[in-house]
Amino acid sequence: MSFYESPPRFCALEEKLTQLVHIYPMLRRVTLGKSFLGRSISGMLLGNSQRRNFMAGAFHGQEWLTASLLVRFLEDLCHEIQSGEGPASELLAQKGLLIIPMVNPDGCEIAICGPKTAGKQQHAVEQMMTQDSRSWQANARGVDLNHNFDAGFSLCREMELKQGILCPGPRQHGGPFPHSEPETQAVVRACETYCPDCIFAFHSQGEELFYQYGNHTPKESEAIARQIAKLSGYELKKQSGLASHGGWKDWFIDTYHRPGFTIEIGKGVNPLPIESLPDIYRKLKPAMYVMCGA
Ligand SMILES: [Zn+2]
Repeated sequence: MSFYESPPRFCALEEKLTQLVHIYPMLRRVTLGKSFLGRSISGMLLGNSQRRNFMAGAFHGQEWLTASLLVRFLEDLCHEIQSGEGPASELLAQKGLLIIPMVNPDGCEIAICGPKTAGKQQHAVEQMMTQDSRSWQANARGVDLNHNFDAGFSLCREMELKQGILCPGPRQHGGPFPHSEPETQAVVRACETYCPDCIFAFHSQGEELFYQYGNHTPKESEAIARQIAKLSGYELKKQSGLASHGGWKDWFIDTYHRPGFTIEIGKGVNPLPIESLPDIYRKLKPAMYVMCGA
């Protein structure tokens, strides 16, 4: 069975990335950090090493399909560069790419195979579990990584409290302080090390696209977002006021004043089934080339 035909278990992802680096010499793999339970967070570097955009997925456990999607795209880019077909060679010579397929490997393992995958955290995860383990979003400590970035953290906390989220759990708890989690730190460090021009955070679901945060959304963001929306059919969403804080794109826009986007892939109920990958990918692929060049 191919990597794209079943949910991306961590060991299968590791094997796939190793295989890709072996087949495609232009691809470089870096370990950006380790998850709370010690699983590697891999970054895949391709193309121009002076200027780069980032794509990252699977911040949320049950959104593991975003990891499959990013590996699918990575493999296609590599194949295109190797064979000289398609736009990848030219695009990536202009601007390189760092792809982080799975920011939250512990959370994905919990969502795919349950708390028994959480090692020393198994008991804690079982205690925190309020619903089916398949809907787990957080990391293995019950922190929602997309609430853990340093962007409006106290406002985010206020909103959590209003919703009755008082402690670690399956979703929406931002953690004790900003960047408290090793997975968040790995992404922050990658931004500091590789200085991306532009970042794309992949989540699911809704076929929606977000590009604003606070007072520092760059002017060019809207045009890029419109182009992605046009090519994918995804709906451009404007966030108003307190709609969102603490996410990677929020922190990136706020810190660097450069374009950051959240893409909600697919439509349906999370976790989106692995069978939906080919259709989601087909619909989004043309827009993903635009993301490379943005
Ligand atoms: Zn998400």
